[in-house]
Amino acid sequence: MRKPIIAGNWKMFKTAGEAVSFVQEVKGKAEVDGVDSVICAPFTALPALVEAVKGTTLQVGAQNLHFEDSGAFTGEISGGMLKDLGVQYVIIGHSERRAYFAETDEAVNKKTHAAFKHGLTPIVCVGEKLEEREAGQTDEVNKVQTVAAFQGLSKEQAGQVVVAYEPIWAIGTGKSSTADDANQVIGRIRAVIAELFDAETAAKVRIQYGGSVKPNNVKEFMSMPEIDGALVGGASLEPASYIGLVEGAK
Ligand code: PGA
Repeated sequence: MRKPIIAGNWKMFKTAGEAVSFVQEVKGKAEVDGVDSVICAPFTALPALVEAVKGTTLQVGAQNLHFEDSGAFTGEISGGMLKDLGVQYVIIGHSERRAYFAETDEAVNKKTHAAFKHGLTPIVCVGEKLEEREAGQTDEVNKVQTVAAFQGLSKEQAGQVVVAYEPIWAIGTGKSSTADDANQVIGRIRAVIAELFDAETAAKVRIQYGGSVKPNNVKEFMSMPEIDGALVGGASLEPASYIGLVEGAK
């Protein structure tokens, strides 16, 4: 049985102080037995967030990392630095990073390896653009991104990856995929992982849906057999809404 995982992706929102206030409001409530509840915050809020979640079951993630351990990479943060803070997860290859920061499939793969090297759980994002969907290329695009991301991982590592399937046209647009469509696409992503490794490994991989998930539609996605959670942007920013998402994942 795969454990459901709700991950809030705060993107470039919230100061350290705002992150701490958020935890005060959600603790005890956005903590549900049998559901992983992860907050992925900007780098500057991570130390305060790690401190604030102590004594709770809330977990903390970053939104990016560099694939090298250290070096002359101005402005970058390594996996070792995140691990040192007590961060547990890291989002890799979000479509905004692919689109605005030229993140390639190759970089996504290197970052996934770096996450494992430093004991972080990667949340690897894949997903098609609107024009790709309309051209009937959804499965091909997701396959290429998935194959690239998992390249060179051991079976054991592969089974621990969290994949976030986020159709790009559904991110921040209020237009979510239907639960049934997301379930089918995710089933085919799982089949790609089974081809790369084996069915047993693929059955371990948690695959989230992301794109305009809200407290009022999260249950529908979670009722689908292939969908193991959600990566949520906008609706993860307000405490009440975040609590609703985690409760809806039960
Ligand atoms: P959204 O963002 O929930 O605001 O659509 C999802 C994401 O970008 O991870």
